[in-house]
Amino acid sequence: MSTYVFPGGLRLDPRKQASRPPLRCLPMPARLLVPLLQHAGSPARACVAAGERVLAGKRIGEADGEDSAHVHAPASGQVLGIVTHDIGHPAGQPLPCVELVPDGRQDWQRMPPLPAWRTSPPATLAARLREAGVVGLGGAVFPTDRKLAPDGFPVHTLIVNGAECEPWIACDDALMRARADQVTAGSELLGHLLGASRILLAVEDHMREALEALTDAAAGTAIELVAVPTRYPQGGERQLVYTLTGIEVGAGTTPRQHGVACVNVATAAAAWRAVVLGEPLVSRVVSVAGRGVAGPCSLEVPLGTLVADLVEAAGGYTPAAQRLVLGGPMMGQSLASDQVPVGKSGNCVLVLAADELRARGPELPCIRCGECARVCPARLLPQQLDAAIRAGDWVATSRLGLADCIECGLCAYVCPSQIPLVERFRFGKGERAWQAQEAERARRSRVLFEARQARLVREQAAREARLRAREAALRDDDDAPAGRP
Ligand code: SF4
Ligand code: SF4
Repeated sequence: MSTYVFPGGLRLDPRKQASRPPLRCLPMPARLLVPLLQHAGSPARACVAAGERVLAGKRIGEADGEDSAHVHAPASGQVLGIVTHDIGHPAGQPLPCVELVPDGRQDWQRMPPLPAWRTSPPATLAARLREAGVVGLGGAVFPTDRKLAPDGFPVHTLIVNGAECEPWIACDDALMRARADQVTAGSELLGHLLGASRILLAVEDHMREALEALTDAAAGTAIELVAVPTRYPQGGERQLVYTLTGIEVGAGTTPRQHGVACVNVATAAAAWRAVVLGEPLVSRVVSVAGRGVAGPCSLEVPLGTLVADLVEAAGGYTPAAQRLVLGGPMMGQSLASDQVPVGKSGNCVLVLAADELRARGPELPCIRCGECARVCPARLLPQQLDAAIRAGDWVATSRLGLADCIECGLCAYVCPSQIPLVERFRFGKGERAWQAQEAERARRSRVLFEARQARLVREQAAREARLRAREAALRDDDDAPAGRP
């Protein structure tokens, strides 16, 4: 099948050492800190109490609204309590977690399996995904049932995303090699849910073993396997849609509006487990990589496992260890400590050595070389966006398309002046979101104030009307002829 070349992008060294050893399961840790926010949207509300015994798969957090997702116990054991803890959230604030001590028995509470999913109505499958807390495991962690819900745009093509383009991250590669049958079955299941006539499963062309495993697993199915060029950010939703279909998902539109839906390979496998095995999403594959760890590998881990336990399972720190990152080198989040739990979005733990860190000199003035614009996959002008943010010109940031920045980090990566462009864009987005919130708060206050003023005017008018009526009644009484009752 012919593919298209998305604008911008860069070929980065894949460095997939973590995919070399076969995928293995992490032994159950002594303690889990299961975050109640593991998805886009509001945190789930805890629905267990300290001292309670839970079974693996029991719901311990209730979704708070449609864009929130349920959270389940990854192990049977005892709830120690609900604690506030650093979960490596980009905003930096600690958030509530269920602290759980596994009992080592791993007694399960599964949902009824639905092996005959091919005859199940899409609504039944979507309800199961919601019940199981399945969210997008490619990083967006948006609730999958919501992402795939009918929205007036029929889907003709489902794209299953195995293009794991950030260097070092190898969890999807490891999953596709070890569980290719679950990935392909999950892809068919989601294709059935969406009514898609075409299912494209994209894998980067350097993932030879994954391609072989998937070729065997997809034999006899309608899935079309496509090897896409190894080029960052190939795994970005808009970039992959363009590469496979030539459809440009423009600013302010979604792939769904073009008849395309995109899910990650791990999401497809999780959907299959939820439907066919009745298992809620309680674990995921995580890569542990970098020269700061003795044995880079990919592990299937219970959600809520601490980074420290993952590093230990990967052979522990080497003397070269300098920095911890949750996620990849381009879009990941630096961690101050290894006492942070891994949630549904946690695809990689990087332990970087000094020579793997990019030397960051002082920020220099822009020399207008245009490199940042050349690599930007969103066709933005990063140097102009940067100038607009520094000037606080929020109208210009809108005009320049700040909202379309996918925070891939390429502009900052190539900038010879060491300008922290992507950090500034994150700041700019946060600032604009805050301003929008403030504007909304001011609008609501104005509406409330105006409603109160209107009520006061109405009450005053009613009082005056009552007064006038009383006065009129008194006048009528005075005017009445003597002897009348
Ligand atoms: S890459 Fe850096 S120096 Fe070059 S134009 Fe962009 S911001 Fe300026
Ligand atoms: S971080 Fe944003 S502006 Fe920079 S290259 Fe990526 S999409 Fe473009």
